[in-house]
Amino acid sequence: MAKVELKKLFKTYNKKIKALEDINLTIEDGQFFVLLGPSGAGKTTTLRCIAGLEKIDSGDVLFDDENITHDQPASRDVSFVFQQYSLYPHYTVYENLTFPLRSPMRKLPEEEIKNKVEKIAEMLKITNKLKNKATELSGGEMQRVAIGRALVREPNIYLMDEPLSSLDAKLRETLRVELKNIQLNLNATILYVTHDQAEATTLADKIGVLKEGKIVQIGTPEEIYENPNSIYVSQRLGSPKINILPGYLFKLNNITKIGLRPENIELGNGPYEGKVISTENLGSETVVAINFQDNEILASIQGSYKSSINEKINFDINTNKVLKFDKGDQRIYER
Ligand code: ADP
Ligand code: MG
Repeated sequence: MAKVELKKLFKTYNKKIKALEDINLTIEDGQFFVLLGPSGAGKTTTLRCIAGLEKIDSGDVLFDDENITHDQPASRDVSFVFQQYSLYPHYTVYENLTFPLRSPMRKLPEEEIKNKVEKIAEMLKITNKLKNKATELSGGEMQRVAIGRALVREPNIYLMDEPLSSLDAKLRETLRVELKNIQLNLNATILYVTHDQAEATTLADKIGVLKEGKIVQIGTPEEIYENPNSIYVSQRLGSPKINILPGYLFKLNNITKIGLRPENIELGNGPYEGKVISTENLGSETVVAINFQDNEILASIQGSYKSSINEKINFDINTNKVLKFDKGDQRIYER
């Protein structure tokens, strides 16, 4: 597959809506790159620009160092998985999967088509559905076929637009794991966009965080979690969410805001005293909400934690893990 680069990409809709502003990123051959951002951040637009489905204002798109900015969509050789399943309803699953292999440009022997389809069907666990009509499938099966239809070819890059977002939580989790295994097996280059932090952390080699059409940080999931460069980035990953608090609460009087992850708070003893607002037992951990000087702080504790509402509670924080932010919500790095 290919290395894909975007250089100084700008895209506006109707001459006024700035959808993408100065996007720069490199997706290495064989890399699983996730663009993470909320609705409206510019995720779909980025994919459509790479596929050639949108005309860009300025900038360059390169496949393996070759500038393809002005190439027609058909000649770019990319596979797109859309957010909504887009199968041919009256064809069987087998026929749907063979479709991308039947373009006049390819002309593969029937035996080879059959082999490829069977291999992909097995990976996606839909072998027993190959003879079904697309309309005779559940939502999860349809989306498996849609993903399979992309994977049956080996294009320059797979572009995936929130492909699991229409599925229920359990199925999403299963397919997420399968998709990662398949990518490793095929050594595929994938640009996957999502607003789901669990997908981003489990799937990505690299995450690019999108905010209002700009990429604000690129890093491994660990780097984005441990070392975010702004409050916005710190809030993209982590559940329960990071606590953003005024610095003076912890005697950091010259620091506007600090970020404190719920797992970096220790309950039971310590110099700080608050009151329990609520506790939520999630099985492997318990989330305790504490009122501390009129600020709500979430702490997550391994296992279960017994306490009652309004009970006084002492706690301590792991000062090494405190993230400091300036007035503009940007990270202050220690010298
Ligand atoms: P995402 O996929 O992250 O939700 P999009 O790429 O769809 O974001 O949209 C980015 C911005 O561009 C949004 O402000 C959206 O309203 C706008 N936009 C997207 N498509 C169009 C379009 N066809 N016409 C006008 N504005 C659009
Ligand atoms: Mg979108």
